[in-house]
Amino acid sequence: MTDETLPCEACGETVPRDAATRRETMGSLDPTKWQTLCCPTCGARLKTVFVGGE
Ligand SMILES: [Zn+2]
Repeated sequence: MTDETLPCEACGETVPRDAATRRETMGSLDPTKWQTLCCPTCGARLKTVFVGGE
């Protein structure tokens, strides 16, 4: 369990990681291993996270 938050540089929101919108990554990264977390308010990309490999 995590209470990590991600600051959005685009709109100034602080987004709890669990509330961020998940999208497939851009480019050639494997979408089963990598996801992009996006701001639910403005849609800006916050962070690309590794979700696979366990
Ligand atoms: Zn935002």
